[in-house]
Amino acid sequence: MTNKCIILGASHAAAQLVTSLRQEGWEGEIQVISDEPYLPYHRPPLSKAFLAGDKSIDDLQIRPQSFYDKLNVRFQQGRVTQVNRVEKSLLLESGEELQFSKLALCTGARVKKVSLPGSDLKGIHYLRNIADVQGLQGDIGQGKRVVIIGGGYIGLEAASAMRKLGMHATVLERSSRILQRVSAPELSAFYQRIHTEEGADIRTNMSVSKFVGDSYVEKVVCEDGTEFQADLVVIGIGVNPNVELAESAGISVDNGILVDKHCQTNDPDIVAAGDCTRHFNEIYGRSLRLESVPNANEQAKVAAATICGHDKEYNSLPWFWSDQYDLKLQISGLSEGYDQIIVRKDPDKDRSFAAFYFKEGKLISADCINRPQEFMLSKKIISQSLNVDPERLENNSIPVNQLL
Ligand code: FAD
Repeated sequence: MTNKCIILGASHAAAQLVTSLRQEGWEGEIQVISDEPYLPYHRPPLSKAFLAGDKSIDDLQIRPQSFYDKLNVRFQQGRVTQVNRVEKSLLLESGEELQFSKLALCTGARVKKVSLPGSDLKGIHYLRNIADVQGLQGDIGQGKRVVIIGGGYIGLEAASAMRKLGMHATVLERSSRILQRVSAPELSAFYQRIHTEEGADIRTNMSVSKFVGDSYVEKVVCEDGTEFQADLVVIGIGVNPNVELAESAGISVDNGILVDKHCQTNDPDIVAAGDCTRHFNEIYGRSLRLESVPNANEQAKVAAATICGHDKEYNSLPWFWSDQYDLKLQISGLSEGYDQIIVRKDPDKDRSFAAFYFKEGKLISADCINRPQEFMLSKKIISQSLNVDPERLENNSIPVNQLL
């Protein structure tokens, strides 16, 4: 019997898992298999500082090779095509077979692709990994026109990075407002204003119908006939979790690999963590699939404990961030289902505020723009289920440390 833990995907979750496994006392082998030729790296800068040219590939590494050497962790590049739960083995595309005693699925997610006339033209890009940005970097340049499809965080961050590079950026959003899926109209209106002030052209109610060009994209055409000239296109319309491998191995899947509060799948020797998972969240009382680094890290800590036979439960508050221009947005919790919103702002500062979302009198989420103190406070209130007076929250003259 091998005493070997294999982690599938050199992901955010993997970087945390290897550390936590050793901390929890795992003495066996640890091997990470991934189809990308890199050590685990930070993905968020791909649409921010890395895209804007402010960071190199080396800057993206979560930990250096020497760190993994110390932990005696082995990395291998390869694509896993099959998991055999009975034999406890993995099959790689190369034909190589690997045995495991414990397996951690950290396969992340992949971008949703559009399938429209012209969508395979050159100059049309997606943003998920380093290779995507490297492909994009060949097409970007000062004065060029980029059309971004999707007014979610990835699309808006790309617009911000490309404005910084001196490009003309147009964002096409199908809904009536940007960020519709994740936030309140107040936040959408704020970001619409900021992007417009920064020179980006934000168009809502715009459904793309085709891309036109010879071999390279030249034009994006919308259903209402509006046309946008483009030197390149970036598409950011969401992701799908990488679950097929798990599903074909008989692991329960439902828009994400199903994990319990120990990050265990329906196989006692297989855990999962990160974007590829779906869990029942005790704080919100419903099943969630989260796409965020903090979630990948927290689940990885729990998964490592589970592999080592220790009893650790996942009950972290979801949180996210987004960087656009000079704005740092920090989001605590999930706002879906809110029935009251309170905005705390300084009338003299039009690039900073906090929006607090309440449901039945309880704070459930907050969007904090350049307001780190409010963000920390909101995390505390939500995760400890504390009561807070909305009127006091709204009153910007009451210092944050006196709000509770
Ligand atoms: P990932 O980091 O997605 O890694 C999974 C790895 O597994 C990949 O390398 C994949 O190729 C590999 N893999 C999959 N299947 C196989 C297979 N069969 N064989 C071998 N290897 C395989 N989150 C935030 O919290 N804040 C942000 O600001 C933010 N910005 C983002 C910006 C961009 C452009 C992107 C793309 C994501 C952003 N995210 C952000 C989301 C965040 O990056 C993800 O939540 C995080 O990367 C999830 O990590 P993970 O551990 O689930 O897996």
